[in-house]
Amino acid sequence: MEYIYFEGKIVPEDQAKISIKTNSFHYGTAIFEGIRAYYDKDTDRMWGLFFKEHYERLFQNMKVLNMEIEESIDQLVEITKELIRKNNIKDDIYIRPIVYFSDLKISPKLVGYKSRIAIYTYPLGDYIDINKGIKAIVSSWTRINDNMIPPRLKVAGSYVNSAFSKTEAILAGADEAIVLNKNGYVSEGSAENIFIVRDGKLITPPVSDDILEGITRNAIITIAKDLGYQVIERHISRTELYIADEIFFCGTGAQVSPVVEVDHRKIGDGSPGKITKEIQEVYFNAVRGKIEKYRHWVIPID
Ligand code: PMP
Repeated sequence: MEYIYFEGKIVPEDQAKISIKTNSFHYGTAIFEGIRAYYDKDTDRMWGLFFKEHYERLFQNMKVLNMEIEESIDQLVEITKELIRKNNIKDDIYIRPIVYFSDLKISPKLVGYKSRIAIYTYPLGDYIDINKGIKAIVSSWTRINDNMIPPRLKVAGSYVNSAFSKTEAILAGADEAIVLNKNGYVSEGSAENIFIVRDGKLITPPVSDDILEGITRNAIITIAKDLGYQVIERHISRTELYIADEIFFCGTGAQVSPVVEVDHRKIGDGSPGKITKEIQEVYFNAVRGKIEKYRHWVIPID
């Protein structure tokens, strides 16, 4: 039996149920996070990755949606560790905290409702391929923007946009979508940030280009700079993707995922790029607590 944190307690899964009338279910106003914990076979240890950073983003998101919950960030970190222990997990997992307006009332608004948080875990290996490289298409759907549904929020409703673009990619025989913003610039994947490599330099769209402020994106910028690469945050045009030497997606779920084809054009020689692989290797060691310099990114769950 799996355990879930629900209404202030860790309870068996069959007791963690919400009513069909729950307000956020109707209006897409739930805020969620996607966190990972990794199992390291060598040390027989679970490592929680960026727990604090994810809960900090959750609280920023809650502020925008006028949500307040009883638990603090530090308490949520402890609750998450407790949940992993209680579920007796020794595997790579995904952790899904979700904050929602729990009132059984109709009306899409952000005031006058009570918010609650639930947290559950599930096993998750590679969300998208990390070895052979994936095929992407540029989506015909436009990325939402700050005055619509703010992309910096991990709010349920914004994933309708992601679902449209991801579905379009799947139906076109590709693995992922790259979504352009209202100005026609590259923003991100359906649930990943994007980097391109040109002439040995990494380029990624700035936060103002309608992206989620990705936690992995920040980690990749740090790793790349530490490896001596220049990282530039600037607009990327669609055709710049076609001529890039390398492309990769990154995210908690996606980790570091090489893109080897965009709109039927091979990227580089059509196999995962050298710099992508170099960054991948550092990332995968860092998330399992194996790199001293990045030890503060992870917490042991003993
Ligand atoms: N963009 C979107 C739209 C996402 O859903 C995600 C996954 N959370 C990301 C980027 C990557 O963000 P992070 O590295 O914080 O997981």
